[in-house]
Amino acid sequence: MGFEYLVIAFLFGLSTAIIGKAKGSSFWVWFIVGAVLLIFGLIAVVLSRREKDEPERQCPHCLKAVKLYVQVCPRCGSELFMPDPRAVRHPGVRG
Ligand SMILES: [Zn+2]
Repeated sequence: MGFEYLVIAFLFGLSTAIIGKAKGSSFWVWFIVGAVLLIFGLIAVVLSRREKDEPERQCPHCLKAVKLYVQVCPRCGSELFMPDPRAVRHPGVRG
């Protein structure tokens, strides 16, 4: 543990972040995940679904389309609760 660990954590963080970014997620979020979880973070990002395939719903206040897991609307800042299932769109699923 020590310098070698930091180098390994950095390398895992970097590769995890690059994959996460390519999938449309946040570079820095995945960097931290990879740096903390190492190989497990890398596996998690490889298995993670592309951002655009995540189910979406509309913010009831400003009507911005946000991901289902988002809890606070990034545009108007209002809290979002679990929506009516009929209001959820699944871009990656036909129908
Ligand atoms: Zn909103």
